[in-house]
Amino acid sequence: MSEHEMVKWLQEACGESYGNYVGGAWKPAASGRTFSIVHAAEQHRVLGHFADSDAADVDSAVAAAEAAFAAWSEVPGPERGAILLRFADLLELDRDELAFRLSAEQGKTVAESRGEIARAAKEARYAAGEAARIVGETVPSERRNVSNAVVRYPIGVVAAIAPWNFPVVTPVRKIAPALAYGCTVVFKPASATPWASARLMELFTEAGVPHGVVNMVTGSGSRVGDPLTKHSRVKGISFTGSTGLGLRIQHTAAERLARTQLELGGKNAAVVLDYADLAGAAKQIVAAAFACSGQRCTSISRVVVLKEYAARLTEALLQEIRQLRVGPAWEEGVNMGPLVNPEQLASVQRYVRLGKEEGAELLIGGEPLSGGNYDNGAYMAPALFAKVTEGMTIAREEIFGPVLTVMEAHTKEDALRIANGTEYGLAASVFTDRLSDANWFAARLETGMVHINHGTASEAHMPFGGVKRSGFGAFSIGSSNQQFYTETKVIYTQY
Ligand code: NAP
Ligand code: MG
Repeated sequence: MSEHEMVKWLQEACGESYGNYVGGAWKPAASGRTFSIVHAAEQHRVLGHFADSDAADVDSAVAAAEAAFAAWSEVPGPERGAILLRFADLLELDRDELAFRLSAEQGKTVAESRGEIARAAKEARYAAGEAARIVGETVPSERRNVSNAVVRYPIGVVAAIAPWNFPVVTPVRKIAPALAYGCTVVFKPASATPWASARLMELFTEAGVPHGVVNMVTGSGSRVGDPLTKHSRVKGISFTGSTGLGLRIQHTAAERLARTQLELGGKNAAVVLDYADLAGAAKQIVAAAFACSGQRCTSISRVVVLKEYAARLTEALLQEIRQLRVGPAWEEGVNMGPLVNPEQLASVQRYVRLGKEEGAELLIGGEPLSGGNYDNGAYMAPALFAKVTEGMTIAREEIFGPVLTVMEAHTKEDALRIANGTEYGLAASVFTDRLSDANWFAARLETGMVHINHGTASEAHMPFGGVKRSGFGAFSIGSSNQQFYTETKVIYTQY
């Protein structure tokens, strides 16, 4: 299917109603209430109606997940893995329709949506393999005729809570490993983007996931997310979202010693030192800054460049930004969509205003776009600020939009201090041709992920996470997930 078929497909697919997915069946909210979501690039168009749930619905979903746990946790790991492999195949088979739903609700280009789905399939396949590698240890005993073993077992019902920027890959990143390790799940999508998620539920079931193993409850953070995180039968909470909420969830979980896996905000720096290919660096930085319209936790939002290279790098950044074409997801040649909704645009516009007021120099973009298609979505021109200093709001707070800032450093020590001078610690890039500087920064950057000579793009089999206020608990993706989804047991056997 091609991009313009999205428009046609949507005409047919819009306007359906979706309940909660509980125990393998679609059910309306106990209260009977619903809420609607609209197309990010055609805001007059309602995409679908969803259950506006509350604590009663959360209760039924947790009960279904708990009832399914005993049998699911006893399915041999390799068999659970085989189901996840089928799920990954189904994701790929369903790629076009899923991409249309995702682009419509979120706004990102169809190419980006397809990329997100391909990535989700890769992560599901990695998790499938992990299901056969839930390894423990045997340790020699201090006594004769005794064997000592350390084994891992699944923790039970897990809550998965996702934001709106990656409505396919984030749920899959939580649900696939949960299933691989033998846990069952109650998933709450973001209220802005439940549509692709609804399809994911069908694909899990089609792949052979038994009823009740994966459940989805839609509705607001306060009426669904909050009771879900407080539920006494929920043993672990995998949350991706803002730092403020992550802190609250950590507090809630601590009261009953539930465990958490928190993926939070970022203020990611790209440090540019002596690097011959400044144009190449600019290309990588712009791609990492403006993908998903900058609404990525790992977006590069601060460029920290040595003074002597600042002018040339800035020129190269401008050249790359001028090549960004902003428009609706389905349009040929467009490589940046609208922001998710007008509220997000207003929030990013406030930062653009603050940047100007606090004395930064706006070199390009920043303004909301209007006229033609632009009147139907929350569009803005990608922005580049120069002369940004450490105290400025746009240098400190997560903007979560298409705004890049350039800060100048006198020495590499100065650059490191600026890069680390934020409360966040998710990802960072360093561009340098000197091996010693690359190693020096890799060792000292206070982030969960460091990228040398490339942008902040992660891979589907590598641990993913942050430090400081960017994350807590086991990194997601990769082998580190075992620490979150499984518990340790020590077994002594005399023979
Ligand atoms: P958010 O406002 O923190 O919401 C995230 C999720 O939490 C949504 O499903 C939301 O539901 C739910 N929620 C709201 N109130 C809740 C409560 N009291 N208890 C439990 N859950 C509640 O984040 P967002 O605005 O959707 O996304 C942007 C943020 O996510 C940014 O800060 C970004 O950096 C972060 N993020 C981090 C990563 C990472 O991996 N580190 C990845 C992506 C995004 P509603 O939608 O119904 O409000
Ligand atoms: Mg929010």
